[in-house]
Amino acid sequence: MFCRTDPDAPKHKGISVILVDIDTPGVHVRPLPDLVDPEYPDLNEVFLSDVVVPATNLVGTLNSGWAMANGSLAHERGMVWVTSVIELENATKRLLGEAPGMLERLPVAERAEAATMLADVYIDAQAVRSLGFRGFGNLLRGGSAPEQALMKLFSSEARQRLALVAAELQGAEAIQGDEKFGAILPLSTSDPSPWLDQYFRSFGLTISAGSSEIQRNIIAEKVLGLPRA
Ligand SMILES: Cc1cc2nc3c(=O)[nH]c(=O)nc-3n(C[C@H](O)[C@H](O)[C@H](O)COP(=O)(O)OP(=O)(O)OC[C@H]3O[C@@H](n4cnc5c(N)ncnc54)[C@H](O)[C@@H]3O)c2cc1C
Repeated sequence: MFCRTDPDAPKHKGISVILVDIDTPGVHVRPLPDLVDPEYPDLNEVFLSDVVVPATNLVGTLNSGWAMANGSLAHERGMVWVTSVIELENATKRLLGEAPGMLERLPVAERAEAATMLADVYIDAQAVRSLGFRGFGNLLRGGSAPEQALMKLFSSEARQRLALVAAELQGAEAIQGDEKFGAILPLSTSDPSPWLDQYFRSFGLTISAGSSEIQRNIIAEKVLGLPRA
């Protein structure tokens, strides 16, 4: 747990990391139903009421939590491109495989725009791969990799755009058949779940490991050096 241990210190300076046993008295876990499958609570709300933990549970030194949070998040965001590239490319492959049938069902006048949307999805997938390689190459040469700050934002939103394009091209079929909903499948490298389910679940990707808004702030301030709004 990242918690405030010095309320008088500046915002970023008074935070520490403490391990909390989930069975400690006062810890209450309330499962949150999954958007796509209410029977599958993937996430929880955790409430702590007067919870006491031994000081030996402190990780690192007191009030150094902000550095640890940044370190672990940078690692998570930095590595996200590997799975993102695979997921995006597999989903793109699946979509392009289904595309001829989808295009055929569309009125002729709408096909050109649909083809452009599909091309954009493909370009996004290639861009994520190239951006990842460039960042990785910079790191290997001992430099910094500002690309890594863009990867999490770009790949999660590209995944969302892809699922929306796919669901839109499916038309009414995307929302037909209740049995389609409720697939207990995480977004994975070969996700066969319905496109609309994937679209709903994609919102979690734009929140976890740093929401899109926070990522945009980081890119603006830390990468581009823009002044704080
Ligand atoms: C699928 C999923 C998996 C997750 N996995 C983990 C996990 O494994 N471990 C873990 O510890 N956490 C995990 N999380 C939690 C996740 O890290 C947080 O939900 C996320 O960081 C956002 O924090 P918050 O929910 O407190 O929202 P808040 O920080 O309260 O933000 C609410 C809204 O306000 C916006 N906002 C907040 N501050 C600013 C700002 N300064 N400028 C502009 N906009 C702002 C946010 O973008 C967001 O839209 C997961 C979340 C999801 C959805």
